[in-house]
Amino acid sequence: MKITEQRPPRQFVTGRGEPITISDCARILLEPDEQITLVTAGGAEYDIARKEWGFYATPSLNGRLLNFGLRAVLVRSYVGKYYVMLVDRGGEDRFEDYLRVEQNTVVQWLDNDRDLEQLAARPEASSAAGATHDVHCMCGADRFTTVHMYFEPPAGEVQFARSAGSYRREVFRCALCRHYVSIHAMSDAGFYEGEYVDATYGNAAGLRAHFDRIVGLPAERSDNAGRVRRVSEFARGYLKRPDGSPSVIDVGSGLCVFLHGMKQAGWNCTALDPDERAAAHAREVVGVNAIRADFMTAADLGTYDLVTFNKVLEHLKDPIAMLARTAGCLAPGGLVYVELPDGEAAAAEGFGREEFFVEHYHVFSAASIATLAARAGFEVLLVERLREPSTKFTLRAFLRLPITEGPTP
Ligand SMILES: [Zn+2]
Repeated sequence: MKITEQRPPRQFVTGRGEPITISDCARILLEPDEQITLVTAGGAEYDIARKEWGFYATPSLNGRLLNFGLRAVLVRSYVGKYYVMLVDRGGEDRFEDYLRVEQNTVVQWLDNDRDLEQLAARPEASSAAGATHDVHCMCGADRFTTVHMYFEPPAGEVQFARSAGSYRREVFRCALCRHYVSIHAMSDAGFYEGEYVDATYGNAAGLRAHFDRIVGLPAERSDNAGRVRRVSEFARGYLKRPDGSPSVIDVGSGLCVFLHGMKQAGWNCTALDPDERAAAHAREVVGVNAIRADFMTAADLGTYDLVTFNKVLEHLKDPIAMLARTAGCLAPGGLVYVELPDGEAAAAEGFGREEFFVEHYHVFSAASIATLAARAGFEVLLVERLREPSTKFTLRAFLRLPITEGPTP
């Protein structure tokens, strides 16, 4: 960068109303990918970045710029010249006065998603557009902020097949409910079938070794022991079925350590997993009922007192659809248990944490777990947040179908 101050400033007079003297103070030469930031006494920032093809004249109009209280607007002068101006929020009256005196008119405010999306939706714009993502959060808000970009996998993340140097991923946070979504264009085919088991556990023997290791952990070091104790206790208290064994189906059972514990706690257990090795492991090693199926398409799964999703829904692009299907396999008066990564707590320690690994499309907040439940048709009985012995930040919730008032006899 090279700054050449103009001493004294070059002055020129302009203006349609009272003459206005402008002082041209400096020239700044930027190399490609250099940026300067113009600041106001009030603390607002306005960045200009040099690219090899030209300039980024503004930061994101409906993001960073707006967050700093600067509202972009396209203005037409009385002789048909066009300008993009940045108006201080709160300075609109002074701006209106200025436009009137200068005989300029507002063509279009460029500071809100609705107007900008309308511009983008014009046929000539959308035909040239590439892949777009739905920018709506499950809470209905349409303002996401980029909070982290990955250019290589964080330490400890499972390696999926991809071409070298092609890792690109972006995490957004909803400005309203603080829900996180991870967006990437890398192929996720086979994440949860054989390759996932291969990548995570090696093979069936690896699965067994992993299972033995977790089941062998002392209770105070085991996430699973705490989960089994809490879920069994709460669900038994809620279900009030002292006689016999209440039934539970665990969706996405994986290693099946949860049902191993629930079986010991007296539950009648069914494991459901799309991977045949995981289902066989549940049946043969853990000794529970096992169904190999995709929960989204499986029919006639039966009904259960308790349906559990242990760190499953964050792996899906549409967790609402999966949770909504649960109503079909819930016994009358039944209960649903949902366990999800806690993005709010994890983000405070950084985006290298496992809660934000690539296989999680969604990372939740206390508000968004409630939205997920409501939109899937459930009532929230209880939400808890905890840090598990493994150091995972976790949200857990107990849900039920809304109780409809029957006719009074
Ligand atoms: Zn949201």
